[in-house]
Order: sequence, then C-alpha cells, then structure tokens
Amino acid sequence: MHDVDVVIVGGGPAGSTCAWKLGQAGIDLLVLDMATFPRTKLCAGWITPEVVNDLELDIKSYPHGFMSFDKLHFHFNHFDFAKKTTQHSIRRFEFDEFLLRRSGARVQQHQVKKIEKQDGLFIIDDLYRCKYLVGAGGTRCPVYREVFHDLQPRNKSLQIATYEQEFPYDWEDDECHLWFLGDGLPGYAWYVPKANGHINIGLGGKAEKMKAEGRRLQNFWDGFTAKLAGNAMVNDVELKPTGYSYYLRGNVDVIRDGNALIVGDAVGLASIDMGEGIGPAVQSALLAADAIVDDGEYNLKKLARFSVPGFFRNRSWFPGA
Ligand SMILES: Cc1cc2nc3c(=O)[nH]c(=O)nc-3n(C[C@H](O)[C@H](O)[C@H](O)COP(=O)(O)OP(=O)(O)OC[C@H]3O[C@@H](n4cnc5c(N)ncnc54)[C@H](O)[C@@H]3O)c2cc1C
Repeated sequence: MHDVDVVIVGGGPAGSTCAWKLGQAGIDLLVLDMATFPRTKLCAGWITPEVVNDLELDIKSYPHGFMSFDKLHFHFNHFDFAKKTTQHSIRRFEFDEFLLRRSGARVQQHQVKKIEKQDGLFIIDDLYRCKYLVGAGGTRCPVYREVFHDLQPRNKSLQIATYEQEFPYDWEDDECHLWFLGDGLPGYAWYVPKANGHINIGLGGKAEKMKAEGRRLQNFWDGFTAKLAGNAMVNDVELKPTGYSYYLRGNVDVIRDGNALIVGDAVGLASIDMGEGIGPAVQSALLAADAIVDDGEYNLKKLARFSVPGFFRNRSWFPGA
C-alpha cells in the first residue's frame, strides 16, 4: 500500500493546478491519471488572460505554441461584429503536459476504479491510501462517480455535447471566429487558429435540447464545415470529428464530502454563456488546494458563472467582423 497525504485523480488543468499549489505548500501528494502525458484532450484551447494570470504563466517563456488574439469575431444569422479583447489559444496536448510537469508532482499512470473509506482514510484500488482525495478526473471522474454522484446529481439540461477536430493546417485567417444560432444549434461553433500551423474547429450545444428536437451533431457539423469551405477558411482536409460531453455550471452545492473534494469538470463548472471550462477548473483547483493547506472551507462563491463580462473589461464594440 502506497501512503500519501493527498491523492489527486486526474492531471488535466484542474489536477495539475491543485498539485502545483499543494506542492508549493510542501504537501506530500500523488497525481493519478489513466493517460500518459502528453495526451489528447478534446478542447478548442481558448484561454483567457485570467487563466494566464491565475497560473502565473510567463507567456514569453512558454515552451510551446502560444497565440494571442486582439479581437473575437462573432457571427449570427444576419449580423456579424468583432469585439476587441485580448484572448489566447494553446494546444491542450502541449499545455496540459507543460502544467503537469511544471507542478513538480509525482505522477503515476493508473486508471482509478474503486474508492473505499477505512478509518477516515481513502483506499484507492487497494493500492493507494490517503487522507485527502481530490477528484479532478473531468466529466467521467471516478471520485465524482463513487463519492458525489448521489450527493450532487448532474443537471442533464446543462450537459453540452461537442464535436471537434484539431489538425495541422496552413491557415490564412489568423483570427478567432465564433458562430451562434447557426441552423438552430443551441450553442455555438468555433474556428480557433493555433501557433505553429494548427487549427481547431468544432461546435457544441445543449444535448437534451438537441435530442428533444431530433437534431444530430453530425448534421450541424456538416453544415458548419460546408460554411468554412465556402468561406475558404478550411479546405481539402479529411474531416473526422470526435465527440465529448461536459457540463455547464448549475447549482453545484456539494463539492466537498469530508476530506474528498472535486474540482473542474468533475463538478461541472463551465461558464453558462461560452462553455469556458479551463478557467473554472484552474480557479476551483486553487481554492481546493487552499482549503487543504489551511484546513479551511472550500466553496465556489468567487467563481464567475459567465465569460462574456470579461470581454468588456477593456475596449469597445466595433462593426465589420
Ligand atoms: C470540444 C470541447 C471544446 C472545449 N473548448 C474549450 C475552450 O476553448 N476553452 C475552455 O476554457 N474550455 C473548453 N472546453 C472545456 C475544457 O476542455 C474543460 O472544462 C477542461 O478540460 C476541464 O479540465 P479538468 O482538469 O477538470 O478535466 P480534464 O481536462 O478532462 O482532465 C481530466 C483528467 O482526468 C483523467 N481521468 C479521467 N478518469 C480517470 C480515472 N478513472 N483514473 C485516472 N485518471 C482519470 C483524464 O485522463 C484526464 O487527464 C472544451 C471542452 C470540449 C469538450
């Protein structure tokens, strides 16, 4: 049996951030992830200045591709505009591995299946024993499943279904575009160029709503990619999207049960308007780490529910997207 003070299940942005903060406080911890890093994580890879700030990232010394946009292009059915704002793109394949490595944490490749409690300690798969358990395993987090599922059932109406693809592409348009309400999608579609000749395109929408209307992601995807080809934005690429789902933020009241805490997508914290999940994953992880270090309270009252107000912090709207 391997004894450690804190086991963090999941080494994505939530898990690595929690590990980074706990490590700085000298806490003995272990990260378990079923994947070997670098690993693929479906994600557009848009990050905000707040994420850069919270992670104390020095953009100049970031060792991988990092791209900054000075505006976002919003497209509606009959209305386009650009919003001046500073936003960034990274590739999750690189970013997550960088953060996990930077955390300095011991990382073990292991798929967590069974969690038991004995004498106030958690036993994981009869192999690891810890006082604190942090669930950072994303949508399918085993800590959520084993400890929190009945305490905090997920709200199905907030489930987002997505389709996306990231690939090497010699893009010409180096700006970020977002399409809303296209063909009735209850969500939006994106075109996010990345540094070093990559691009991410995708779309996401409320799963329950699409199901009720008999709409399929594949149909939205076909319409969207035809639009990209028609605008000469993406051409001559074999498109094979992959799907994934995650949850927008609802009333998540139970995020701690004794010494078990959940963070990031394991809770379901993506912003209600834009489905931004990296920022809330990082922020919840910082709060959970503080709660463990100080033996204090863990709550998410400080976490913003919406992303768009952040776009308004500087500059103004202007037409002509
Ligand atoms: C298509 C798509 C596009 C998105 N675009 C954006 C975007 O542009 N910007 C943004 O801010 N957010 C975006 N999001 C949301 C964002 O990706 C997530 O909110 C974010 O990754 C959450 O981080 P996390 O660390 O909580 O979980 P994850 O990044 O999912 O990490 C969880 C980790 O846990 C591990 N794990 C899972 N189960 C187990 C197990 N049983 N045992 C051990 N390890 C396990 C996994 O291998 C994984 O490494 C997008 C999501 C999708 C699906």
